[in-house]
Amino acid sequence: MKPKEFSCPECGTGIPKRKALFMTKFTRIQCKQCGIVLRPKKKTISTIRGIVGGVGGGLSFLIVMYAVNRWNWLVAGLLTFLVMIFVTLVSFYLTIKFTKFIKN
Ligand SMILES: [Zn+2]
Repeated sequence: MKPKEFSCPECGTGIPKRKALFMTKFTRIQCKQCGIVLRPKKKTISTIRGIVGGVGGGLSFLIVMYAVNRWNWLVAGLLTFLVMIFVTLVSFYLTIKFTKFIKN
C-alpha cells in the first residue's frame, strides 16, 4: 500500500498541512493518532530548500537588477515580494508532496 502524502508512516494519519509552512530539518511533529514523534527526512527538506532558495534568490536578483535600471526600487521591492510569496507557495507544495516522515 502506498502511504498517503504528508502522513504518519506508522498509522497513516495525515499531518496538518500548515506544518509544512515552517518545516525545517529540525521540525518534530507528534502524531495525533498514535503519539509517536516524527521528523521529516533531512534530505528532502534540504533538497527542496536548495532548489527553492536557488530559484527564488536568482529570480529576486534578476528582478532587482532589471527593475532598478528601468523603474525604481518600489517596483523592484514589490516584484521581489511577489516572488517571495510565489517561492513560499512552491516550497509549501513541494514540502507536502515530497516530504516523508520517519520516526524520531
Ligand atoms: Zn501515527
